[in-house]
Amino acid sequence: KRAKLPFTKTIHEFDFSFQPSISEVRVKETLTCRYIANGENRILLGPPGVGKTHLAVSFAVEALTQGKRVLFLTADELEAECRKAEKQNTISRLVRRLSRPDLLVMDEVGYFPFSDITANLFFQVVSKRYEHGAMILTSNKSYVEWGKVFGDDVLATAILDRLLHHAVTFNIKGDSYRLREKKKAGIFP
Ligand code: ADP
Ligand code: MG
Repeated sequence: KRAKLPFTKTIHEFDFSFQPSISEVRVKETLTCRYIANGENRILLGPPGVGKTHLAVSFAVEALTQGKRVLFLTADELEAECRKAEKQNTISRLVRRLSRPDLLVMDEVGYFPFSDITANLFFQVVSKRYEHGAMILTSNKSYVEWGKVFGDDVLATAILDRLLHHAVTFNIKGDSYRLREKKKAGIFP
């Protein structure tokens, strides 16, 4: 199955001058896709509208261009897949499916807390992928808040311990690009 991207945008459409908190050097380094061969992770944190999904999509597009197997899904989709798998008794098959691709992109972690079963599956996937399968995560929640996202501080710590061992975090600060466009159009004060 191909990556189901929410939209197709590339890094050429990204305005770095609008988002000075993002290291262009680290973005360029990520676009080489070396982190995929190395089984490292890239994590994009920040409030809504700062370009997390745009960057995650750009990284996924580049990985696809380089012939990597990419799976892109939102945390919501993971939750839905997980509930379905639980009903059908296929959780271990879902863990395998999420462990296989060269790059797993999980967008929008933290908008909703995960159910226990999904939090547990997420831990299994992160453990399986640790040091050989790259992941990209985006989240509106800082790491200290991940205990609430996963409903368990100990589990969140175990997940972060593995995720962050070989990872770069893009801590994006600043204004929403969406609101900037609305402000320019006079829709938003
Ligand atoms: P987030 O995932 O952080 O909520 P998005 O990546 O969805 O935000 O960005 C919201 C919209 O604004 C998208 O259409 C995206 O392409 C655009 N956008 C965000 N930041 C930039 C930027 N620095 N340059 C160009 N477009 C941007
Ligand atoms: Mg987004």
